Amino acid sequence: MSEAILIFNAGSSSIKFALYSPDDCDLLAKGAIESIVSGHPVFTLGGDTENWFSGIGEIPQTGSHYDLSVWLMNYIHGQSDIQLLAAGHRVVHGGRRFSQPTLVTDEVVKQLTAYTPLAPNHQPHSLAAIEAIHECWPDLQQVVCFDTAFHSGQPMVAHQFAIPRALTDEGVVRYGFHGLSYQYIANVLPTVAGARANGKVIVAHLGNGASLCAMKERKSIASTMGFSALDGLMMGRRCGSIDAGVVFYLLREHKISLDEVEDVLYRQSGLLGVSGISSDVRELQESKAVEARQALDLFAYRAACEIGSMSSALSGLDVLVFTAGIGEHSALIRRKITERCDWLGVDIDMSANDDNRLKISSARSSVDVYVIPTNEEIEIAESTRDALPNLA
Ligand code: ADP
Repeated sequence: MSEAILIFNAGSSSIKFALYSPDDCDLLAKGAIESIVSGHPVFTLGGDTENWFSGIGEIPQTGSHYDLSVWLMNYIHGQSDIQLLAAGHRVVHGGRRFSQPTLVTDEVVKQLTAYTPLAPNHQPHSLAAIEAIHECWPDLQQVVCFDTAFHSGQPMVAHQFAIPRALTDEGVVRYGFHGLSYQYIANVLPTVAGARANGKVIVAHLGNGASLCAMKERKSIASTMGFSALDGLMMGRRCGSIDAGVVFYLLREHKISLDEVEDVLYRQSGLLGVSGISSDVRELQESKAVEARQALDLFAYRAACEIGSMSSALSGLDVLVFTAGIGEHSALIRRKITERCDWLGVDIDMSANDDNRLKISSARSSVDVYVIPTNEEIEIAESTRDALPNLA
């Protein structure tokens, strides 16, 4: 029987899981339930994971993250060769209280539930997974790892909005997200970029959700996501930064409810809203429609403008890293973004970019540009192991 740490990454439409060995955090198995919001969830096992499981089983056709998490736990529980030692979760919002991986207690769950209004599309799903695991294995230790934690040391000036101080004191501040991805990149960057890793670095996490993080000494000093995961870059379905006046306009003139405004900005905007075709960059790249090209152009324009803003926060730029689905795979988007950053000293080697090579900057570029696959799951596995020293 193999001992394992279970990793849960519950997103808005998917539940990804992985099993890691407790000693050296080797990946043992992984899988995902996807298309949850469509009401027809699909269960897949990745890589050579099938060796660990006795077949895929019948997944319930339900839209609830909780029901699917319980099903998944029972499925893993039914595999006689696996003994779970602990579970680690990605949790999007840790508020101002949680800046370290934290053992789950009733009190912690209560506090995380209170942060739900800060991340309405993500927090409830992580909480559902925690509850489902507790239901199936009440004694299993669970650890929560936060997307906000990596940014918790940012200077005040990067955290604060220009709003009345009482609101700032209440917690209406910029938190920043995708911290597990940024932490992973910060950890591996010295082996890739050498001494420049500790210099002025921007990491572009470009997936369905997208943000930039400015790092000095491999610590976050600014990021484009703010109070919620809606701010900053244009995303798959989210609008990114928008004049708050648009919200007043929608409420007053369109007379739609707050929930409907939220739906427009979180789920009907971004690449999907601008193209009217898809939120998926692959589909937009293949499309001949002018709206598809406009959506990709706007995505790249917004990212390049924000790279300028992050460079200001850093007072310069030594290293630019692309990561996550779009950042790792779309040579077109990387080219469109970097073309607009030539004034910063960015110049890419077109064939290296087309081949998705690790280093894509040219010899004449004063900024080193890299493509580094992110790995949020191993970050959670290591953090969970380190938070529970009795494990190994
Ligand atoms: P999430 O935020 O859901 O984890 P991902 O990091 O998986 O998202 O990124 C999803 C995005 O990556 C989608 O827009 C998808 O089209 C894009 N993507 C994935 N593979 C490719 C590829 N080969 N070429 C271009 N875009 C890709």
